[in-house]
Amino acid sequence: MKKWGFILIILICLGFAFTNVQSYFDSKINIENSYDQNDGGRDTSGNVQTKEITKEQIYLGNLLLVNSEFPVHQQSMKSDVVHLTPRHELTQNYVLMGSDIYLSEDVAREFSTMILSAEKEGLHNFAITSGFRNLNEQELLYQQMGSDYALPPGNSEHNLGLSLDVGSTQMKMASAPEGKWLEKNAWKYGFILRYPKDKSKITGIQYEPWHIRYVGLPHSAIMQEKNFVLEEYLDFLKGEKQITAHFNEEKYNITYYPITENTTIEVPENHPYQISGNNIDGVIVTEMVPVTPR
Ligand SMILES: [Zn+2]
Repeated sequence: MKKWGFILIILICLGFAFTNVQSYFDSKINIENSYDQNDGGRDTSGNVQTKEITKEQIYLGNLLLVNSEFPVHQQSMKSDVVHLTPRHELTQNYVLMGSDIYLSEDVAREFSTMILSAEKEGLHNFAITSGFRNLNEQELLYQQMGSDYALPPGNSEHNLGLSLDVGSTQMKMASAPEGKWLEKNAWKYGFILRYPKDKSKITGIQYEPWHIRYVGLPHSAIMQEKNFVLEEYLDFLKGEKQITAHFNEEKYNITYYPITENTTIEVPENHPYQISGNNIDGVIVTEMVPVTPR
């Protein structure tokens, strides 16, 4: 009886180890170029339909690049920005520093899911210190903080509703376990650390361990894997024209289309897809192709 008990324990341990290995591989990402130079064609993984794209689409979506070179356009603000204080279902497990914090509702939901995971791993001191800012608030901040610490109105991601500043209630983010956790895990939930330490020459902004930006999956996973900031990632997509990414049992075809005037592009007929502008010169279509489990 003892012997069988021992074997059972060994089997349970093996099963546990296997599950862990499995989930590790599930979250690994595999990226390849899928644009056929000879064919001049894109991999669409199924039937396609044409869709009219207006120039305005360049300025809408979760992949917009906003920096000192590319300002926020009037229509770029997320349409679902909400006041977080009364939304208790979106603000569990963290603190709001102030009573006037606004954010895209979708982004707040993803943030809330992320913080719940962090909570389960023993991190209990997250806070949001700033979310969406309108242009007047940004102007005030710019005047108070100066150009070293704030961007002029219209050039800050906070004006989109996709970015937020996250703090610890205990200490500075640069030394807080919350900061380290975000740096390691935010990508799994569609967020990126927008201004990392070693990329300030590219972003033009010094290291900000507190500022996270929502771009969505699989983009955050690809950026993490390739160590790209948003500037580099959008350049990469433009250069590759199309990539395929395998992530979490899903296949994604990500295609860049330059847009100079109102035009038509090909989008999948049978699979879900999202279109986002890059705020520069084109749009990115992300097609999700379900993969049958092995
Ligand atoms: Zn910020």
